[in-house]
Amino acid sequence: MPKKGNKRWQQSRQPMSQEPHDIADDGEKKNRSKKDIQLLRGFKDILPADQGPVQYLQTKATELAKFYGFGKIDTPLLEMTSLFRRSVGDVTDIVEKEMYTFTDAGGDSVSLRPEITASVVRAYNEHGMLNLPQPVKVFYWGSCFRYDRPQTGRYRQFNQFGLETIGEMNPAVDAEIILLSYLFLKEIGLKVEMQVNSIGCPNCRPEYKKNLIAYYRRKKRNLCGDCQRRLLKNPLRLLDCKEEGCQELKSEAPQIVDWLCEECKNHFMRVLEYLDALSIPYNLNSFLVRGLDYYTKTVFEILPVAPDDQPERRQSALGGGGRYDGLSAVISGKEAPGCGVSIGIERLVIEMRKQSVEPPAKKGPQVFLAQIGEQAKQRGFQLLEEFRKEKMAVGQMFAKDSLKSQLELADKMGVKYVLILGQKEVLEGTILMRDMEGGVQENVDLDRVVTEIKKKLKDGKIRSV
Ligand code: AMP
Repeated sequence: MPKKGNKRWQQSRQPMSQEPHDIADDGEKKNRSKKDIQLLRGFKDILPADQGPVQYLQTKATELAKFYGFGKIDTPLLEMTSLFRRSVGDVTDIVEKEMYTFTDAGGDSVSLRPEITASVVRAYNEHGMLNLPQPVKVFYWGSCFRYDRPQTGRYRQFNQFGLETIGEMNPAVDAEIILLSYLFLKEIGLKVEMQVNSIGCPNCRPEYKKNLIAYYRRKKRNLCGDCQRRLLKNPLRLLDCKEEGCQELKSEAPQIVDWLCEECKNHFMRVLEYLDALSIPYNLNSFLVRGLDYYTKTVFEILPVAPDDQPERRQSALGGGGRYDGLSAVISGKEAPGCGVSIGIERLVIEMRKQSVEPPAKKGPQVFLAQIGEQAKQRGFQLLEEFRKEKMAVGQMFAKDSLKSQLELADKMGVKYVLILGQKEVLEGTILMRDMEGGVQENVDLDRVVTEIKKKLKDGKIRSV
């Protein structure tokens, strides 16, 4: 059991009445009775009817990643807390405020993963992947957890698709990651733009930090409470603050591009040359730092292109990533440069709706098998298997006995042919085949019905039911 003193644990166990359900866009009912067992705030059920866009995105992501040579990796949802403390950073919102951390029965501090890159780099080291030909290219699709304030596009459990290339410094790696992020969203039909920056390396960043601190010291009184603390512990995070006052101060702050060392400058120039050559639209944003500590050199975010009267949409990144050349050493003590991206699936689905982008409609089955009576049901199950072996989708509702309700369902599905199997047909070894468009009906040999239907439907491919 978690220790009593664990503040986060207590937080997540507050009585329902202290945590009203206020995510209006999810259709959640406000202030439900205390007795109801209900979905946790900030979590989502994805019902069968809503699976379409998610499955479509997963198929597109997998195809793209595999074509470019990325292999799938799955890592656990739960990791040692120290993995994220060390990699994402102690003084980041994610680690300070948003992790689901608890002590397990063995007394170890564990956390639900708030992101996946750190786990991938842990796995890369733990499985000796640095002995494989480099770079190692992997992609993932999975859930992350952050105890954030739920609102549209921000959940406490959400899914990320990500790509990671580990073991190579070449700027072509950064370009490939940015290209694939862009292509993924563009091919779905979304209008997006990339924001890019370089945040330097341990050689040049300290000097920039000194100047940043000097600038903000002079403005300290105007900073929000969090930023006053960040000024001492993690000054780059000041550029990430969403408070209005801090945003204003940021516009006059020193810009990191002016402090980059030769190596970082060259690397960045070469990445930008690739983006130009590949016609990827991007904006240089010299204040882009991202909310995680492990980044070095290239960082980028993908933002939706939104109309002028909806500026808030441009604040909510669909994805982001960058280079993390120091991350492996922080986790395992072994050097391995890397670069990656993670894209939020829920935000993509929301943005698809906003930009009126529909996943291609999936066609239902073109055949429905109706049955009347016990014997027909039993023979019907066998017939269904014959169709499945031929990869042909067939609608059915074996839970129903009434022919009327089965035909109503067939009608709703808009099938071309209905096959009706009754006790008489089973005994005679036939089946009634009704052409729903022409209204013609004929008796067909049960043994030949699959071949007959196949002949009538030109493509005969399986379709989801
Ligand atoms: P990050 O790991 O913070 O760079 O996030 C990468 C992407 O994950 C973001 O651009 C979002 O699309 C998505 N994301 C991050 N946090 C959340 C959240 N709380 N709810 C939904 N999506 C999120």
